Amino acid sequence: MSVVRSYFRAAAVALALCLLLTACAPAEAPRLLDRQFPAMDTFMSLSTWGEHAGTALDAAQREIGRLEGLLSVTERSSDLARLNTGRSDTVSDDTAELIAFALDMAKRTGGAVDPTVYPAVRAWGFTAQAYRVPTQAELDALLPLIGWQSVSLDGKTVRLPAGTQLDLGSVAKGWAGDRILALWRELGVTGGILRLGGNVQTLGSKPDGSPWVVGVRDPDGGGVLATLSVRDLAVVTSGSYERFFERDGQLYHHIIDPSTGRPADSGLVSVTVVGESGAFCDALSTALFVMGVQRASEFWRAGRDFDAVFIGTDGRVTITEGLRDSFKLTGEFSEREVQVIS
Ligand code: AMP
Ligand code: MG
Repeated sequence: MSVVRSYFRAAAVALALCLLLTACAPAEAPRLLDRQFPAMDTFMSLSTWGEHAGTALDAAQREIGRLEGLLSVTERSSDLARLNTGRSDTVSDDTAELIAFALDMAKRTGGAVDPTVYPAVRAWGFTAQAYRVPTQAELDALLPLIGWQSVSLDGKTVRLPAGTQLDLGSVAKGWAGDRILALWRELGVTGGILRLGGNVQTLGSKPDGSPWVVGVRDPDGGGVLATLSVRDLAVVTSGSYERFFERDGQLYHHIIDPSTGRPADSGLVSVTVVGESGAFCDALSTALFVMGVQRASEFWRAGRDFDAVFIGTDGRVTITEGLRDSFKLTGEFSEREVQVIS
């Protein structure tokens, strides 16, 4: 699927969700100001209101551009591209902070999300959109290069063993979202919503004081399967439908199980994580997708510091108990059975 097509599809979904968000606002509520643009290999849509809205949107777009310049694996001058070709480098404060975060999340999730998975992501052609199915021998040769424990981070100096490369795509958008909301707070903005691809992050509530209503996508049709009502929370989704290709009747998606080097085959089509930090939710959406519902439930019970919605390849919907009140199936899906993890 081409990036342009996915931008348009994401734009259409974003527009539909924006209409959903604004439909109920009373006439006297402040108007939302919107900004849409492609960045970080996805489609971004930002909305806010109030006297600082224009400045806030400008600052956010600038900040996303700056972070993309540091973190892109395809832009040759980025911190990450330099590191991946040179094996050892001194990176910017921001890049060092995000690498430290990604390594910490790798440790906490038992390596389900792991920034060193990049050699496998590349082997399947997801970086350059030159899709292919690597042989088992090729993957076997790459697996020893994958493992967050081999990355050395000393202040701002990063060292990688020969052949090991980093990909921060599983955490960068959530982390960038946290940065933007911090910027907005500094500017005195009290409410807004960011849609950075499958990442939604909210500040405060809607202009009329009601919660933001975020759609959970129906993986089959692309419509809205359910809604979540949230304030000041991130709602981050990892879905196999976001990037995939087909060969000989088989679908291959972009979320790789670092233990096999293959697209994760955990019985899920999407995981949506709800929590305070965009970066944390982003790392977890990828990790829980790799883990599957069983392992993910145990992980949730151990900390109970986030909530999640799981949609299985069989259409089964499972939520954690903190979402009982805010999760609502929509229209044609309203009869679907929902399992609750407690
Ligand atoms: P997300 O959309 O947040 O789930 O991130 C998926 C992106 O992160 C993919 O497009 C890859 O670039 C990269 N990726 C895929 N699998 C993993 C994994 N298990 N751990 C870390 N990064 C991954
Ligand atoms: Mg993620």
